[in-house]
Amino acid sequence: MDKINQDFKELIEVAQESKKNAYVPYSGFKVGAAVMTGDGKIYGGCNVENASYGATNCAERTAVFKAVSEGHTDIKAIAISGDTKEHLYPCGICRQVLIEFGDDIIIVLMNKNGEAKLTTIGKLLPNSFTNKDMEEVQDGI
Ligand SMILES: [Zn+2]
Repeated sequence: MDKINQDFKELIEVAQESKKNAYVPYSGFKVGAAVMTGDGKIYGGCNVENASYGATNCAERTAVFKAVSEGHTDIKAIAISGDTKEHLYPCGICRQVLIEFGDDIIIVLMNKNGEAKLTTIGKLLPNSFTNKDMEEVQDGI
């Protein structure tokens, strides 16, 4: 087991386990994710599709929303597990949701073989629109 898999062992396991619950009757594209909060709690999530496709929710956002709804906005890391040959990256909407909680959130990307690599949300979404932009406007009022 390499160092990343060891350092993020539990987070990766929860993401992989959550993937089993993916509700994907339309695409068959299962994804699991797991968020780690500042105090070490872990929240898993899966993608949830809908007959009205636009109502579909990604695994990453499910996990983030579960953490936030339990009172945790201090998000340290998220692991993403898919069944793709290449490492699976979060979509644009999920990147926007993640950067709301800090540009230094660690993202553990995995491929179908469970091989992991690391990046940060700040690297995946440079020059982003964030709450800092909102504060700037409010300061000007
Ligand atoms: Zn997404």
